[in-house]
Amino acid sequence: AKKVIIKIGTTSISNDCGGLNEEFMKHVASQVAYLHSLEKEVILVSSGSIGVGIDLMQLGCKPREIPVRQAAAAVGQNILMQKWMEAFSTYDLNVAQILLTYESFTSRLTYLNLRNSISTLLEYGVIPIINENDSTCVHEIEATLGDNDRLSAMVASKMEADLLILLSDIDGLYDKNPKRHTDAVLLKTVPEITPTIESYGGSPSSTKGTGGMRTKIDAAKICNIAGCHMVIANSSIQNAILKIMEGEEIGTLFL
Ligand code: ADP
Repeated sequence: AKKVIIKIGTTSISNDCGGLNEEFMKHVASQVAYLHSLEKEVILVSSGSIGVGIDLMQLGCKPREIPVRQAAAAVGQNILMQKWMEAFSTYDLNVAQILLTYESFTSRLTYLNLRNSISTLLEYGVIPIINENDSTCVHEIEATLGDNDRLSAMVASKMEADLLILLSDIDGLYDKNPKRHTDAVLLKTVPEITPTIESYGGSPSSTKGTGGMRTKIDAAKICNIAGCHMVIANSSIQNAILKIMEGEEIGTLFL
């Protein structure tokens, strides 16, 4: 793969009460920097702003109502970017913040502008870091709709990426939620998204993550139409990104 989108889920970047897992961010930066040195084009999609905001505003661990989550996102996004900037500065790489809504893709003009600015950033060797603009779009933030999974697939599709990697707290797609069923079986490859596959997408078990597997399967559909492969893998695997790029079979590969 030449152009790759890496989506970091809330469950991977945040600690239990929302604070950032900076060690993990540094580990991602080191892998991205290595790919960059191989002339790969890498775009990050990073969740985590709401958790950081909730942590900073000392709102406690409980899930919050939407206006509070939006406020928290606005507080947390700066810190999230600051931490990414620090992580990448070790490798002399600049990062750029891009906040998107679904409307960014619905008008041809905004979409073309978006594509041009991301392409220009890549040309200049900058790492674009995308997140949903949670403070302005109400519906995206709600548990039923809000997620960076579909957003990252739309970016992959519009940027004509070869591969989308979703890093999560789970090894991949199982035939049922492994956190509730001990006999759940991990799927290594999904050649086609059938109704059976779709039925595996449950709601997320954690209060931090938003999309669960349902939005990841939706993302796979968007990727499939765009001719882009998608992998769901566990972010706790050492060098997961590099292993996937080298073709090692970790996680679930959607063809
Ligand atoms: P992220 O923040 O990485 O997007 P989510 O919490 O949104 O993570 O989604 C991952 C969670 O989805 C898993 O931790 C698991 O509890 C849940 N899940 C539900 N159904 C499945 C399934 N069939 N296979 C794997 N995980 C599942």
